[in-house]
Amino acid sequence: MERSSLSSMAGPQVKTLSLRVTPERAPQMIDITDEVHRLVSKEAVTTGFIVVFCRHTTAAIRINENEPLLISDMEEFLDKVAPRDCYYRHNDFDIRTHNMTDDECPNGHAHCQHLLMGASEVVPLCDGKLALGRWQRLFLVELDRPGREREVLVQVFGGG
Ligand code: ZN
Repeated sequence: MERSSLSSMAGPQVKTLSLRVTPERAPQMIDITDEVHRLVSKEAVTTGFIVVFCRHTTAAIRINENEPLLISDMEEFLDKVAPRDCYYRHNDFDIRTHNMTDDECPNGHAHCQHLLMGASEVVPLCDGKLALGRWQRLFLVELDRPGREREVLVQVFGGG
């Protein structure tokens, strides 16, 4: 049964799309569901899955509910887990020698928060639509600072 439905597909495809987002504050949870859906719906894939992947170590991808008070709760939660104003060796530019850039800024809290969240989510595609639950939305979570463009890859796997 499974075999025959697989072989009747037009042939698996992989397509990589990208999305750019510039956060206005940090932390900030930015709902990217509609944009991801717009990108994916242009593709011929109707059955498969997508991987939504953020190419940064201080901005995460998470699925959660878009309810304004909950978003404030979650942003506050992140600050409790790894407060911005704690001491981080990563921020101690007197001792740090690795991966230093000209515009290096203290962001140890953002890396530690990111550790709990991760860089990607997988969403099934059914009938050409994201098979998200009623309250599930895709978020880019900016953890570091505002004003920097963030790149999100949306890789589509599947067939028609
Ligand atoms: Zn850093």
